[in-house]
Amino acid sequence: MANRIYGADWVVPVASEPLRDAVVAVEGSRIAWLGPEAKLPPQFRAVDIDWTDGVITPGLVNAHTHLQYSGFNALGRGQYRGFEDWSVAFEALYDRETWEWGRAAAQGAKLGLATGTTVFSEIITSDEARGAIAAAQASGIEYLEVIAETTRSWTNGGREELIKWLGDKATITTGISPHAPYNLDPCVVSDLVELARSRGIRLHTHLGESALEEAFYLTGDPAVLFIYGDLRDEYHLVRQKGSGLKTAAYADSVGLLGECTHIAHGVYFDKCQRDLLRQRKTRVALCPRSNAVIGLAEAPVAAYLSEGHDIAVGTDSLASAPSLDLMADVKALAEIARKQGYREGDLWTRLVQAATSGGARALGMAKRGYGALIEGGPADLAIFAIDVTGDEVERALVEQGEGRCVLTVAQGRVVHDGRDKASEIERHVRSQDQQAP
Ligand SMILES: [Zn+2]
Repeated sequence: MANRIYGADWVVPVASEPLRDAVVAVEGSRIAWLGPEAKLPPQFRAVDIDWTDGVITPGLVNAHTHLQYSGFNALGRGQYRGFEDWSVAFEALYDRETWEWGRAAAQGAKLGLATGTTVFSEIITSDEARGAIAAAQASGIEYLEVIAETTRSWTNGGREELIKWLGDKATITTGISPHAPYNLDPCVVSDLVELARSRGIRLHTHLGESALEEAFYLTGDPAVLFIYGDLRDEYHLVRQKGSGLKTAAYADSVGLLGECTHIAHGVYFDKCQRDLLRQRKTRVALCPRSNAVIGLAEAPVAAYLSEGHDIAVGTDSLASAPSLDLMADVKALAEIARKQGYREGDLWTRLVQAATSGGARALGMAKRGYGALIEGGPADLAIFAIDVTGDEVERALVEQGEGRCVLTVAQGRVVHDGRDKASEIERHVRSQDQQAP
């Protein structure tokens, strides 16, 4: 007996081919059955079908967020000249007032849910922001962030503080986020990798985000550290005049790359570096709209696709993105990929996967059924009120999905319902009609 049956013109399970005129039956927090409406097994027929004209997808996976900065939305609507220019604006706003991180994170989670996201890869800088995802009925990983630590500060309390933080009671899976390898000394990064490994938890970091980053790893050029003032001269790579390695090779040399790490941005990588990421099974969460606001180059989206990377998508925070609507980033990725010459017919399918199963794999949550609609899997789904031409349902999702999520279900519960009353009556009539003899 299902508690609820959702139906739509299309169901895109991601784990299998799209289905026309199909339904998803939910029992508690699990999917009990999915398939064409015409094949609905008898045991589910007593329940009215909650029908929406549109497309049902798995709950989306936002593979890179900082929900605590949801109050910084004035920044995300701006335009900057690069990572350093944006960092100055960010720091000024950060210092301007006392922020309520917990409240902002809760608002951010709500905005994500309202646009179809049910799984978040969330970076926690301030402890007050912790717990917002679970409180909103969503899933994901909260990566506790470690930022700006030299060997000295790390051994003088930094490490101890993190160990204590990791031991605090959590409402959701915990991970570690070494913010970026340029503001953490190499032995700090290696230690974080070891701490994560010994606890069986995952890592998430920013890599290839700043145009100045590579020069730091190669030659110790401290330009990327300019917001840290005098502290920058203390960094190991500045004193050693670099490692002679490019960004990805350097991250690999300190143990950061691997299947349990996914990175955000991945903008400034040549083919060699992308190949290394792929060999290490390190997934990339592309954040195209955040990159555009910050003023970064466009990520090599077409190359990631044609070289066979299993990509994911992230919005980043409202401090650098105009919204937390993941489908807007999916649309931006399609535009960039085509502009960069990607002509394969799998573009739409790959991008829908990136926003769902690709993200779930980046978080190690695909094995539990996240990022897909499968029987027995978590009842996380989103419904988009969009028109599909012919059978190009994935293309319609990519091109029209932004702003069109009308219903989100997370762990079997309706967490967002934007359908208006009139369509509710219409839906009800439809289900009654269908059950009339
Ligand atoms: Zn970020």
